[in-house]
Amino acid sequence: MKQIVFSTHNENKLKEIKKILSDKFKILGLSDLNCDDEIIESGKTLAQNAYIKASFINKSYNIDCFADDTGLEIKSLNGEPGIYSARYAGDECSSEKNIEKVLNSLSNKKCRKAVFKTVICLIFNKEKHFFEGKVYGSISPKIIGKQGFGYDPIFIPDGFNKTFSQMSIDEKNRISHRAIAVQKLSKFLKSRFTK
Ligand code: IMP
Repeated sequence: MKQIVFSTHNENKLKEIKKILSDKFKILGLSDLNCDDEIIESGKTLAQNAYIKASFINKSYNIDCFADDTGLEIKSLNGEPGIYSARYAGDECSSEKNIEKVLNSLSNKKCRKAVFKTVICLIFNKEKHFFEGKVYGSISPKIIGKQGFGYDPIFIPDGFNKTFSQMSIDEKNRISHRAIAVQKLSKFLKSRFTK
């Protein structure tokens, strides 16, 4: 089975992506490389950050790999937190603090529309390729659900009346921003590996 590295320390992301790709590819995370380097996400866009994470591992280990970067854009907050989603409540923040800041910022807003975006950067045979996924939805008035991670407990995808945190991984993977980007990555990898 072909193997490819996903440049992430986030075990939740790794789990989601393995569920989608592992019938065709063996996916390794950074812990499988014994890599605990912190990769500074200094880009100004999701694509730049995904590239920074993928190229760091590609250069350090001389292997093909991919990385993702995700942002939650909230319409009435002018697209915030966007690329600052991980550090929305400050450098030392947690998902709980980030969620608290979002809910407080929206407390006097009528519109709660939001979009989750993921960009994946793959470095394959020294070339870079980008794949994007988006899911539209809205921000719930409070935390609901126990599964998932990050902003999952407050994101309700359009067409559903529950948050990502009330869904199983398989259910989230049928519709999520990351799953859409990963399906595009998967199609690309399948076509390249069969050449
Ligand atoms: P990054 O892509 O790891 O930089 O994530 C940016 C921020 O978005 C972090 O706070 C993550 O917890 C959050 N995040 C990333 N992907 C998801 C997701 O699928 N659901 C909810 N939050 C996410």
